[in-house]
Amino acid sequence: MSFPRTNDKLVLMKLIKYFLFYKDFFKSTIIVLTNSGLVGLAFTLLDKPFCPAFILATCTQYLAFGVLVSIVSQYLQSKVRLAELDSLEPLSTILQCASCTTPNVTTFVPDQQERVEFVCDKCEGKNVVSINFTVARVTEFIEPIQVSQNIGNMIPTQQFKN
Ligand SMILES: [Zn+2]
Repeated sequence: MSFPRTNDKLVLMKLIKYFLFYKDFFKSTIIVLTNSGLVGLAFTLLDKPFCPAFILATCTQYLAFGVLVSIVSQYLQSKVRLAELDSLEPLSTILQCASCTTPNVTTFVPDQQERVEFVCDKCEGKNVVSINFTVARVTEFIEPIQVSQNIGNMIPTQQFKN
């Protein structure tokens, strides 16, 4: 008799999981339907039909919530983007103008989506910065040679004696 009981437990666990997963959906739906019901009741008190008011109120609430959610998500996305930009360190470098080759001090944030431009101090020409990364190999130190000892052996000392 223990097998059906564990099976019942599993079904119950699944139901609880399902309920928790859709809890917010059910909650918001119940709130929307309650609001619509209240609007429908108000319309019946005013001798107007219940169903059109109920449907209209439901649609209006879903539209309003959709607009609200999109506005809030856009706001949050822009905040996240600003935080990402703040975390980037601005780079300062000296770049030559593409027109007159005058060196210009330029400061910019290395953002992938932003086009980096600067105006030349001398000719006032617009320049676009393209960033290239180059890679160099790290070399090992060569062992130091004892130069003084080798030079001492190479000098022919007998020449000075004669
Ligand atoms: Zn220039």
